[in-house]
Amino acid sequence: MHAHGLTKRFGQLVAVNAVNLDVPRACVYGFLGPNGSGKSTTIRMLCGLLTPSEGEIDVLGLRIPQQAEQLKRRIGYMTQKFSLFDDLSVRQNLEFLATVQGLPRQQGKARVDDLLRRYRLDDRTEQLAGTLSGGQKQRLALAGAIVHKPELLLLDEPTSAVDPESRRDFWEKLFELADDGTTILVSTHYMDEAERCHRLAILDNGNLVADGTPKELTAKLQGRTFLIRADAPR
Ligand code: ATP
Ligand code: MG
Repeated sequence: MHAHGLTKRFGQLVAVNAVNLDVPRACVYGFLGPNGSGKSTTIRMLCGLLTPSEGEIDVLGLRIPQQAEQLKRRIGYMTQKFSLFDDLSVRQNLEFLATVQGLPRQQGKARVDDLLRRYRLDDRTEQLAGTLSGGQKQRLALAGAIVHKPELLLLDEPTSAVDPESRRDFWEKLFELADDGTTILVSTHYMDEAERCHRLAILDNGNLVADGTPKELTAKLQGRTFLIRADAPR
């Protein structure tokens, strides 16, 4: 995935300012930055939900936003609000998403059963999604985002609403997916999560401050304190 000169203006405000990104395949790539730094706006442009004011995007060999329609079934997207259907059961949530993603009925059922087991939701299949705990909702949302085995997964602050143990559990799942070849783009406010990423981009006020491996960035950014502030959970 590449982006060049990616810019988004909302009226006078420059939310994302000439950002260049290069995300290798099967990489867990983190976006770190304070509130309003442009993380969500960047992610939305990369998945074709928001049209850039300027810049070029290539995702999985497709030109975005022009070829965004072809991208839909090859990517998964999860927002921090989880976007579940609260009045559908756990199983119905996944089955619905499998249908939307065009999985044939039998194949969809098998995939849903497999995900329910792997994401430890098999004892909750008939429970309404709206009544799940935060950690369970998060696991269901991730299972839903990967029901069609996307090549690229975009996660916008997926762990901001859950406890430390669920966060760790969630990151184990992310690395399993990356080991299987999925490219993962994930925004976070947590330093411990950022440090686990293979590569990181640091955004501030719409600008890409630095990017590289966590080790490279620690060396590059010595003495800069805004990174530490980003650690505080909201
Ligand atoms: P957070 O950590 O709070 O989620 P973020 O890094 O995801 O922040 P964005 O949501 O990308 O930040 O917002 C970047 C800037 O763009 C903010 O100043 C925000 O108010 C502005 N912005 C985002 N979407 C819109 C919109 N649709 N219209 C106007 N301004 C917007
Ligand atoms: Mg955001």
